[in-house]
Amino acid sequence: MIRTILIIALIFSIHISNGQSINVGLFNKFNVKTLVFKPLKGTFFLENDNGYKEKIKSNDVIYITLVGDKISVWGLEKHLGLSESIAITPKKEQALFSLEPAFPALPKRRYEGSLQILIHPDDKLTIVNAIGFEKYVASVVEAESGVRATHEFYKSQATISRTYALNHIDRHQNENFSVCDDVHCQVYKGMQTQNSKIKQAVDATRGVVITDKNNQLITAAFHSNSGGYTISSEDVWSAAMPYLRGKQDPYWDNQHNSHWTATIEIDDWITFIEEMGIKLPEKYNPQELFTFHHPSRTRNLVIADQLVPLKQVRNHFQLRSTFFSIEPQGNQLLIKGRGYGHGVGLSQEGAMKMARMGKNFEDIIHFYYYDVQLINIDSTTYLLRLLSQ
Ligand SMILES: [Zn+2]
Repeated sequence: MIRTILIIALIFSIHISNGQSINVGLFNKFNVKTLVFKPLKGTFFLENDNGYKEKIKSNDVIYITLVGDKISVWGLEKHLGLSESIAITPKKEQALFSLEPAFPALPKRRYEGSLQILIHPDDKLTIVNAIGFEKYVASVVEAESGVRATHEFYKSQATISRTYALNHIDRHQNENFSVCDDVHCQVYKGMQTQNSKIKQAVDATRGVVITDKNNQLITAAFHSNSGGYTISSEDVWSAAMPYLRGKQDPYWDNQHNSHWTATIEIDDWITFIEEMGIKLPEKYNPQELFTFHHPSRTRNLVIADQLVPLKQVRNHFQLRSTFFSIEPQGNQLLIKGRGYGHGVGLSQEGAMKMARMGKNFEDIIHFYYYDVQLINIDSTTYLLRLLSQ
């Protein structure tokens, strides 16, 4: 059963990487009811499910609004009909358009590819952008890691983003698209600067994904900075994944997110730990009881011989990581922390440092993911070998 799923996923992957598109749900965390479409380059065709068809030219502005159980479309001068779905397709591939949600008002973004608009079961517009898969990967790399890194880092980030997308390709199946454009899946902001360094790195790794030794696409988890130790997946999530093992990370220091501090009022701390079921002694010295140090990562904090999961502390007080010490000072606790993010898998700042030190993207991937392989999903040899097993 698992092998069948993998084979289907790989066949699908091969289609995708050979110039296929991925369907991305845009603005999906918002309840968008009105959307403004403007062509920026090229001509488009708008078509609804009643067979209505209209050409959209430069300087046209199209207003798309959910009215009751229908999508209403207005051009500048005329009503373009009511329907349950509309499709906007470019005449030529390189066409560019902008989308600006007007209700609620959100920043305008630029997109390539085509657009399909449907009615979401939650009484809002479902906005789906079909975009070439490798262009999607380039956009995600820019959104997730900015434009100031080096070639080998971008190659590792492109490989991770490609793997992550293919591994989550059916995540929003019930909503009529594959992945959303938010951190829930991967951040996708359409066509941004289209940075040439990122494009080169995406092209250089075209079709390359990370699998475990059983040829399964891995969950390519990453975070900003490990603080000196990455953490095993089961210490953060429920599943123990053999390739997501905690390890010492010598590439963490002297970076933007290496160190942080925070303060917590002792009264807030006591309320929190009592809510967590911790029984405090009748008399105690906060200085002694609440002091906490852990030189390497652990899963729990110990207070009066009782355990408090560090993950809960991080979530409750919105701390940057679960890797910190606590020093009581008067009515406050001084929190001195290391790293940023969940700490599982690849550290982006560590990967950037490795790339600056001359390591290549294979070195980076194999350092942060244990016992994995890099394969090219364009490789039919690989698929044939798999099918004949
Ligand atoms: Zn999502």
